[in-house]
Amino acid sequence: MQDVPNAPISVDDYRARIGALIQSTPVTLMPLQDCLGLVLGDDLLSPVSLPPFDNSAMDGYAVRSVDVAGAEPHAAVALPVPVDIPAGKTDIVPLLPGTAHRIMTGAPVPPGADAIVKVEDTDGGEQRVAVRVPVAPGTHIRRTGEDVSEGDTVLRAGAVLGSPQLGLAAAIGRAELPVHRRVRVLILSTGSELVEPGEPLLMGQIYESNSVLLAAAVQEIGGEATVLRFVPDDVKAFRDTIAGHLDKVDVLVTSGGVSAGAYEVVKDALTGQGVDFLRVAVQPGGPQGSGMFQGLPVVTLPGNPVSAALSFELFLRPTLRAAMGQPVIHRTRVKARTTVELRSPSARRQYRRGRLDGDVVTPVGGPGSHLLASFAVSNCLIEVPEDVEVVAEGDLVSVLVLS
Ligand code: AMP
Ligand code: MG
Repeated sequence: MQDVPNAPISVDDYRARIGALIQSTPVTLMPLQDCLGLVLGDDLLSPVSLPPFDNSAMDGYAVRSVDVAGAEPHAAVALPVPVDIPAGKTDIVPLLPGTAHRIMTGAPVPPGADAIVKVEDTDGGEQRVAVRVPVAPGTHIRRTGEDVSEGDTVLRAGAVLGSPQLGLAAAIGRAELPVHRRVRVLILSTGSELVEPGEPLLMGQIYESNSVLLAAAVQEIGGEATVLRFVPDDVKAFRDTIAGHLDKVDVLVTSGGVSAGAYEVVKDALTGQGVDFLRVAVQPGGPQGSGMFQGLPVVTLPGNPVSAALSFELFLRPTLRAAMGQPVIHRTRVKARTTVELRSPSARRQYRRGRLDGDVVTPVGGPGSHLLASFAVSNCLIEVPEDVEVVAEGDLVSVLVLS
């Protein structure tokens, strides 16, 4: 009670506040192999044409179409084959009238040839070839610039780099691309009860999970996580642990130690240091903190695992995606009918873990913020608005699709 002097801030207002805290990442040149999922920071112009030269679309023979005009299956035209052109051959001998050059897919069409006869329409001869069909001029020739002309803008700034885009960049000869670099997130959990997974657990202790969850969530959106793991509820330990890292990252994200109890280490360490602690009108994940600490954006999440995860989902995920220039920052939202009645606190937006199946959704587990296992088998979040306290079975609800 005494710790909550002001009315809670709405989910949307708090998201806007976190959004304003974190700047766009700079555009830097990155090797192609590191660019998957990132966003192009500049228009991409092609310095070459694609194909760069007329080349064969088939394994076969380069010919003059007039030389094989009379060819028929039972009256093949025989031509000498003085030259072989495998793919990659760079010194190309012109084709003389009345001859054929054996040519492989992707090899340059020799000057003088105007068509390719595919090998299946010949006897496949190496010294002489019997051509069994006529070909129209241009047959099976891939023309210079058919795909891309030199100087073309092949991708615009803001394009998300998936496999086709990276393939195209390589095809025009780029080894690096200007991209919004990955956002760098420093992650630190707090709590004297926390123990590293793999270590023995005493009564009263729990395994630390938030830093693992948050780091993975950062990586899932293409960010870079530096995980400091966890510190006990000790202000000096907290400060000492983050010192030395603050100038290397774009944002510090902590978990735990922000609610109204005693030993709230994050609150104790950062109150009056540029970080505001407040309540957001959301369940789970009400207690939050954010601000600038020593020039670094800081977002302090509550410790309950589902609260931490949901807070990341609502406030950090869209912000970090936007910082990396991503055009789509929000989850897909659909309407679905709930298979059971839902109850939600008044004046708070509730998110329930759920399973979406077609156009129906079923909550998984209760609303409790410690129920991580039910989150782990969910594929969506069910959103119950602030002004709704009961959703009847069969009613339509808003659903955020997670996977
Ligand atoms: P707090 O916000 O620090 O009061 O923590 C709320 C609840 O979340 C407590 O039950 C903590 O033990 C638990 N908790 C806090 N941090 C973590 C963490 N990093 N991993 C797992 N559980 C945590
Ligand atoms: Mg704690």
